[in-house]
Amino acid sequence: MSVLLTNIGELVTNDPAHGGSGPAEGGTVPGGRGTAADGIGVVPDAAVIVEDGRIAWTGPAASAPAADDVVDLEGRCVLPGFVDSHSHTVFAGDRAAEFAARMTGEPYTGGGIATTVAATRAASEDELRARGRALVREMLAQGTTTVEIKSGYGQDVATEARTLRIARELTPETTYLGAHTVPAEYTADRAGYVDLVTGPMLAACAPHARWVDVFCEPAAPTAFDEDEARAVLQAGLRAGLGARVHGNQLSAGPGVRLALEVEAASVDHCTHLTDADVAALADSWSPADGGPGTGHGTVATLLPAIEFSTRSPYPDARRLLAAGVPVALATDCNPGSGYSSSMPFVVALAVREMRMSPAEALWSATAGGALALRRDDVGHLGVGARADLTVLDAPSHTYLAYRPGVPLVHQVWQAGARAVGRSSQPRPTT
Ligand SMILES: [Zn+2]
Repeated sequence: MSVLLTNIGELVTNDPAHGGSGPAEGGTVPGGRGTAADGIGVVPDAAVIVEDGRIAWTGPAASAPAADDVVDLEGRCVLPGFVDSHSHTVFAGDRAAEFAARMTGEPYTGGGIATTVAATRAASEDELRARGRALVREMLAQGTTTVEIKSGYGQDVATEARTLRIARELTPETTYLGAHTVPAEYTADRAGYVDLVTGPMLAACAPHARWVDVFCEPAAPTAFDEDEARAVLQAGLRAGLGARVHGNQLSAGPGVRLALEVEAASVDHCTHLTDADVAALADSWSPADGGPGTGHGTVATLLPAIEFSTRSPYPDARRLLAAGVPVALATDCNPGSGYSSSMPFVVALAVREMRMSPAEALWSATAGGALALRRDDVGHLGVGARADLTVLDAPSHTYLAYRPGVPLVHQVWQAGARAVGRSSQPRPTT
């Protein structure tokens, strides 16, 4: 069964074959994938045909082939579903009081995580599942069709494994983050905790995880230094997981260097970078020596909702973009440092606070997230892509930043089925 979505005022495909709306210059990621500099593949007055859960055709509405069913989108804008490549959405408890305290002057050090760890350990499986499901539904309603979920609030073998089992019910993009912080009971035995994370905890978690991650931040006493983080990542790689890193959030530490060393898919936060970090990230995609590159460099994932919620300086997105580093945007939705599940909010922050163009921010929130998860079936609407579409009650993608805080998402389609949505047809009057 095929469905024709037509009368689309602006279709964003992220498909360079549809031409660009961004700067004409710029590279294509080795392997044929576009970058933000190639533009976001805008088609005005467009249509899409969805068949068997995939994009079967895109182009001008006037030349669309016939389909079994037709949906008239009445001039609305259609985007690829957002790819939120960084979230911590399976947890228990509440830290609203900590947020309120921080807003009145207390600095964020990451220590409040212990509160969530205690609540998550005490929660029942049903409670954790219900919370996780509700947050993923909340994300879907805001246009997010692919989400990555990390563990990291268990910090013991049973709770980490339970978290990942539940996360796996919600998404295939699950990340083992036993090394989120050093729990209180291991403060005097950090090496013992690293042994646990790289040993029995990893063995219990790896069957439910695709990725391994670590909070590498020598400036934070409860996070992990370079050698500890390297041990965690290497153990994960040996267990068959892909690597991601929380790095350079609070200081220009070793996170980026380590992420590149282990060929991580993404290094996330990137708030404090040295010139060498930026050059090395760019080099992972397009080697300065003119070599061919692997097409699987390390994405810089920026999480501006965290800087917003911790009232911290934002990362320098323009510096990364100017160097040719692929940038992803994600929510980092978590109960402590930033509890927004909204990719439209993140896009608005990226445009307003980090001076990304609306097109760059949209690319980073869709194709950039997909690249950070090494997925080529989502984040774009090229033929063959999974039919994940977000329909905005707006004429263009610019409205995401132009109308911040407004619920613009009108419909969401996931794998070719309408998952969220008001009917686009006016209700008949009786
Ligand atoms: Zn995070």
